[in-house]
Amino acid sequence: MSNRQKHPTSLNFKPQVVQNTLALPCVAQSAWRLDDESGLSWLQAQWQAKQPMRIVGGASNLILPPILPGQTVLMALKGITVIEETTQNVLVRVAAGESWHEWVQQSLNAGWFGLENLALIPGTVGASPIQNIGAYGVEVGQRIECVTVWDFSCGQIKVLSADDCQFAYRDSLFKKPEGQALLILSVSFRLLKQASWRPVLDYPDLKPLAQSALTNDLVVSPQSVFDQVVAVRRRKLPDPALTPNVGSFFKNPLLSAEHFDRLRQQYPGLVAYPQADGRAKLAAGWMIEQCGWKGRRVGAVGVHERQALVLVNLGQAQVRDLLALAHAISEDVLGKFGVALEIEPICWA
Ligand SMILES: Cc1cc2nc3c(=O)[nH]c(=O)nc-3n(C[C@H](O)[C@H](O)[C@H](O)COP(=O)(O)OP(=O)(O)OC[C@H]3O[C@@H](n4cnc5c(N)ncnc54)[C@H](O)[C@@H]3O)c2cc1C
Repeated sequence: MSNRQKHPTSLNFKPQVVQNTLALPCVAQSAWRLDDESGLSWLQAQWQAKQPMRIVGGASNLILPPILPGQTVLMALKGITVIEETTQNVLVRVAAGESWHEWVQQSLNAGWFGLENLALIPGTVGASPIQNIGAYGVEVGQRIECVTVWDFSCGQIKVLSADDCQFAYRDSLFKKPEGQALLILSVSFRLLKQASWRPVLDYPDLKPLAQSALTNDLVVSPQSVFDQVVAVRRRKLPDPALTPNVGSFFKNPLLSAEHFDRLRQQYPGLVAYPQADGRAKLAAGWMIEQCGWKGRRVGAVGVHERQALVLVNLGQAQVRDLLALAHAISEDVLGKFGVALEIEPICWA
């Protein structure tokens, strides 16, 4: 076998338990750890043989079935490379298998800023463009210069610009049918140096930081934004290691301005975030709470007591328990508010 057709370090043909942050039982029939790009041509042959193929990073945004058929690729490519650097900014290429949160910490330590609002999101760098991860007023697509992919449809490496990636709220090319043949190898970020960096503090949870800096005549630093985001997330979100979950289970629905105005007349307390395009992003968690679901338990699954958007596995939950709970919640929200909820994580069950 030539080097170009090398197996990814093989866990081949052995059933492999897929650890996931929801702690759902899942065994991949055939799992491959991709820690070297020379394994790509072997994967290409599998693709051409029409083997179902799934890529798994940190499995923090996946609803998994008990058995994953076909080939499962466990993303493990590593490496961080500076591509170009000026006094104002830096372009850094980060391999898909790097841990997202560790990369955010490393970027801050290196004096490269712009990712601090996205601290403590679980998972890998390679998955960050998939749903255009976002938190506390920043989406990763705003910091991405390009994404390098292996395109199974032609068996070649391609570089996609941020525009090519079609980033939108929890969405991108990679979630669309035309993005299903793409394996992300690395993501290149354009980050700022201190002189050109400005904090993003519009999100309600970060406003106290801006206020306290103003009162005490202090300058907000990237590290203080990072620390505040980490503190707020630790306070509000359950740690998957202790209480298994996938973060937000539902997307915040986007409504037209007219639809939102009509709904607000009916529900004056409706929580929403105005969007640049005039639409309103409704807080799905608020609607779920109004339907009486916050903190409720149904057998082995439940709704988190501090964050109604987060569904949790309370013990030995099966995927059907979780999907039944999600269905019951969606039905109630639709019945009360007339708004359809969409599941945020990728569901392979
Ligand atoms: C406690 C908690 C908090 C969270 N908070 C947030 C948040 O604030 N904002 C947010 O946006 N998300 C959040 N998430 C969701 C999740 O962390 C992100 O979506 C993350 O990017 C998923 O990364 P992952 O490596 O675990 O991807 P996985 O769950 O392994 O995969 C997710 C999808 O990406 C695909 N994929 C993964 N790697 C690649 C690759 N290299 N090439 C092609 N496809 C790939 C998979 O096939 C799958 O379709 C949270 C999750 C948890 C558990």
